[in-house]
Amino acid sequence: MAAVRSGFLDTPIEFLKGVGPKRADLLRAEAEIFNFQDLLFFFPFRYIDRSRFYTIREVTGEMPFVQIRGKISDIQLHGKQRTTRMTATLSDATGSLELVWFRGFKWLKDKFKPGVEYIVFGKPALFGRVYNIAHPEIEPVTPGAINQSSAMQPVYNSTEKLRARGLDSKGIGKLLKTLLEFAGRHIHETLPESILKQSKLVSRETALREIHFPTNAQSLQKAQARLKFEELFYIQLNLLRQRMIRLEKTEGYVFSVVGEHFNNFFFNRLSFELTGAQKRVMKEIRSDTLSGKQMNRLLQGDVGSGKTVIAVMSMLIALDNGFQACLMAPTEILAFQHYESVSNMLSDSGIQVALLTGSTKQSERKTILSGLKEGSIHIVIGTHALIEDVVAFESLGMVVIDEQHRFGVAQRARLWAKSDTPPHVLVMTATPIPRTLAMTLYGDLDVSVIDELPPGRKPIKTIHQYDRNRLKVFGFMRDQVAKGRQVYVVYPLIKESEKLDLKDLNDGYESIVREFPPPQYAVSIVHGKMKPADKDWEMQRFVSGQTQIMVATTVIEVGIDVPNASVMVIESAERFGLSQLHQLRGRVGRGADQSYCILMSKDELSADARKRLGVMVSTNDGFQIAETDLQLRGPGDIQGTQQSGILDLKIADLTKDEAILKYARARAIDLLKGDSSLQKPDNRVVRQRLQELYHDRLHWGRIS
Ligand code: ADP
Ligand code: MG
Repeated sequence: MAAVRSGFLDTPIEFLKGVGPKRADLLRAEAEIFNFQDLLFFFPFRYIDRSRFYTIREVTGEMPFVQIRGKISDIQLHGKQRTTRMTATLSDATGSLELVWFRGFKWLKDKFKPGVEYIVFGKPALFGRVYNIAHPEIEPVTPGAINQSSAMQPVYNSTEKLRARGLDSKGIGKLLKTLLEFAGRHIHETLPESILKQSKLVSRETALREIHFPTNAQSLQKAQARLKFEELFYIQLNLLRQRMIRLEKTEGYVFSVVGEHFNNFFFNRLSFELTGAQKRVMKEIRSDTLSGKQMNRLLQGDVGSGKTVIAVMSMLIALDNGFQACLMAPTEILAFQHYESVSNMLSDSGIQVALLTGSTKQSERKTILSGLKEGSIHIVIGTHALIEDVVAFESLGMVVIDEQHRFGVAQRARLWAKSDTPPHVLVMTATPIPRTLAMTLYGDLDVSVIDELPPGRKPIKTIHQYDRNRLKVFGFMRDQVAKGRQVYVVYPLIKESEKLDLKDLNDGYESIVREFPPPQYAVSIVHGKMKPADKDWEMQRFVSGQTQIMVATTVIEVGIDVPNASVMVIESAERFGLSQLHQLRGRVGRGADQSYCILMSKDELSADARKRLGVMVSTNDGFQIAETDLQLRGPGDIQGTQQSGILDLKIADLTKDEAILKYARARAIDLLKGDSSLQKPDNRVVRQRLQELYHDRLHWGRIS
């Protein structure tokens, strides 16, 4: 959280009445609450509607909380030498359940009067065949009690340690009550009058009050809407402003000609007609590179949609205008494969292409570095090694980044810093990004989409098989191999249990070799722990068709292109995310043959896992899959979101708030249109707020 103008809200948390140094330490360590402001923004994660009463017959073990009116009888103390448990029966007209206590007996045992009606509130659980509620909240039914319980009650996240110090949900609520008593006049409005009016938003102060202690469901909804709007509005405004600054201030190289290199490739080498989508994207890139501004374009295209050729043609235009170009990939294998295919496409053209990765030998590296500096190397392809400081270009004009979500903004900026005028940047991703995420992650980029696959592709058939049907799957693999096809078998590799996963992989490899023994068959294995040279050697054997089966971890996830491979078997598919499954599936279906993706899973699946695998079976559309992934898992698990800051969202939810996001973006665009430098008096609050929020990030705009 950025510093806030108001000194009061910056006050360290220990100075709040009821906190003190010990609790303050805990609040800092357990909840990242350092000052009043942090507490104010520690929102309830849900609310309990205490206006609703349930009958005992309605109670199920799944309910998070219930509120019941009933009478209490049959109080019993249990335990041998001393009491360890106390129970009582709660009954209403529909039945009865058990109340349980594990402490506080002395005080409780005479508290409940027979025949009196109580309001009982707590979490029901099924114990044996009887429902019970442990440590319920109980109060007698009085007109006041019913009235009071009609409010929405906030529930705050707490932890074991906080609870031990009295800071359970209730305790935190108490602190907030105290804080809000004093804080009111220190909560400043952060949105301009005009937007508040136009969008019918409640004031910031009202919103912060109501989010903690809603008067009713409707006022809570208004508070949430206001706070979500504000959060998304400022993210969008910041992104849009950065883009504006980039366009206004940053000169870009003008690629005025399309010349020999491009034409040679296009007319003599390209063996297929570009798809309509590819043509459109090339036009967009052409127009960017003619505009005199730096291009910053995100190219989204599903696996196999033909992004590589776009990258090559873009780089060739740079060369035609006397510039160098580079292509950056996230892994060595990918960089190598790009290098192979690009060198191949450009053979006999006189264009010098080099490969630079972490494992490039010292002597070779030296030659490449000096070639780049002198300009005798025209295109360099590589990994992160390309952004090291020692890499200098004579005149870098075009940077293509493949599978961008693995590179952070900071890394992009480092590449741009390599020349005074920044090179044009084309970022390519095969992970379809749901619109809400794209708007938030890449709101500062222009976006192109290849939404059309090259003609003649047969849609991949996806099948879900349980482990018990493994023999059937082996049989199918045998048939396909007999037809001359190749097969991938992929195992999950997840950090926490790397050792176990590696064992799974090796066991799997052995069982495959048993099923497909030499000399009739040959099986490759590739995983992340292998030396790059061994990996390449194994890859090469598969690429060239010497081996029929490739057993691998997800290192083969991105980019690998073996058109003859037509079967993708994914082991423990339930452990993969949807986007990852989609990426893996994209490794097949690249040739003319019918391709298959077989999702193997354990026999017992959770409802969630079944749903995910079901989506994979039912569609090949990457965007639809990405939307479902976002719905099911939230943005935290989606690649690219980790460094983006969108996980810091306090209240907006990208899976649910698309409408608010779009609306907030539209308001941000309006605002900048009307007052691009934020000079109008009404927009002063906006200036201030931007400064508070993005103080240390503003200079990114200048670098880019
Ligand atoms: P991706 O977008 O996943 O990087 P690639 O660029 O690797 O896809 O392209 C996949 C395959 O499709 C490659 O073999 C490529 O040569 C081929 N391809 C690309 N564009 C076309 C096209 N317009 N017509 C036919 N084949 C194409
Ligand atoms: Mg690719």
